[in-house]
Order: sequence, then C-alpha cells, then structure tokens
Amino acid sequence: MKLILLGPPGAGKGTQAKRLEDRYGIVQISTGDMLRAEVAAGSPVGKEARAVMEAGQLVSDDILVRMLASRLAQPDAGKGFILDGFPRTVPQAQALDQMLEEKGLKLDAVIELRVDDTALTDRIAGRFTCSACGASYHDTFKQTAKIDICDACGATTFTRRADDNRETVVARLKAYHLQTAPIIPHYAAAGLLRVVDGLAGIGEVSRQIDAVLATVR
Ligand code: AMP
Repeated sequence: MKLILLGPPGAGKGTQAKRLEDRYGIVQISTGDMLRAEVAAGSPVGKEARAVMEAGQLVSDDILVRMLASRLAQPDAGKGFILDGFPRTVPQAQALDQMLEEKGLKLDAVIELRVDDTALTDRIAGRFTCSACGASYHDTFKQTAKIDICDACGATTFTRRADDNRETVVARLKAYHLQTAPIIPHYAAAGLLRVVDGLAGIGEVSRQIDAVLATVR
C-alpha cells in the first residue's frame, strides 16, 4: 500500500502514520523527522534547514526531493509506505509523480486530514514527546499519568520541538495554505483524494482511515 497523508501541522499525520505502520506493515516516511535528524547531526543539510524550520517555513524543494528519492530507494520502502509531510508543494508533487512512474509504482490513496486552523494552534503549542521512546503527550489533552514520568517507558526526560510555539505555528499554517493546499486539486483530479475529519478523536480518525483503505485495496 502506498499512501500520502496530507493535512496542516497538528492535524495528526504523525500519529495516524504510526498506527498505519503497525496495522499494515508499511513504513512511515516523515520528511520532518528526517530533517530533524539532519539538524541534530549537524550535517550540511541540517545546517541549511535549521533556521528555515525554526521560522516555520519550507525547506527547498531540491533538498526534499533528493532526500525522498534516496529514502524511497531503500528496501523497506518496497513493501509500501506512508508519506507524512511530503509532498508539500506543487513541484514536490510533480517530482513524486515522476519518481513513482520511473519505478512503475502507483499511489493507492491520498488521505487529507481536514481540520480548521483555530483548533490547531492549541493542539500544537502544548505537544511534547518522551526523549527515550518517542511517546507523545500534550500539556492539556494528554498529560503523563505521573508528573514528568513517561507512561510508556518510565523515562524522565522529554523533548519539545523548536517549531512548536505559537509564533512559528502561525507561519507553518500560512505555509500550508499558500504552498501545500494547492496540491490537493492535483490529487483530486487523479481520483486519489479521500477526506477524513481530522478533528475527531484519534480512534475515530483511524477508523475512518481504515474504512477509506478498505475501499481502495
Ligand atoms: P513536520 O514534522 O512535517 O511538521 O515538518 C517540520 C518542518 O520541516 C516543516 O515546518 C518544514 O520546515 C520542514 N519540512 C518537512 N517536510 C518538508 C517538505 N516536504 N518540504 C519542505 N519543508 C519540509
């Protein structure tokens, strides 16, 4: 199964991609995670991307297209994948079409998690994750059961993304509407677009995604 998860920052793409990984045995390919790894490693790409990401803007298409092409060439992507955070611009969508065509592959569906902006700022601004196991929490919506102790693994250190603050979120939403939303008609015209209510609870969103996937398999 080859899927794209589309939606604004905070819509739940990462959470749903992880569930799909477990359920369908396909890999999550998150370009945001890949870029954060480059930043943490201090690589040339990471150095170039850091300030752009912290400003809530998009990293260049050139970098992203190269990064995605090499990731798709890895053997685990052969069984199927969920793209989380790519494509984010029309040129990226066109480059992806070409990459897939060259490999003789076709997307099964593009799932848009539709959410309105007002809900997103609150969702994003309180997010944090366990530094050891990556479990996700939220200051308001999903606190740890014991203060500062991860429910999943018991670790006591947590990480907040540098770009998960209110000011940057506004810029990230603006980038989504200006640069990413224009790719939606591209996938609608190809008959691949399926829309899911991203404001529903995590379990309900998963259920809606499973229902969509049952119709495309
Ligand atoms: P995400 O984790 O998907 O929210 O991505 C975090 C940040 O990484 C974004 O705000 C962008 O700065 C950058 N980024 C991730 N994916 C892309 C992409 N496909 N194109 C451009 N920038 C990206």
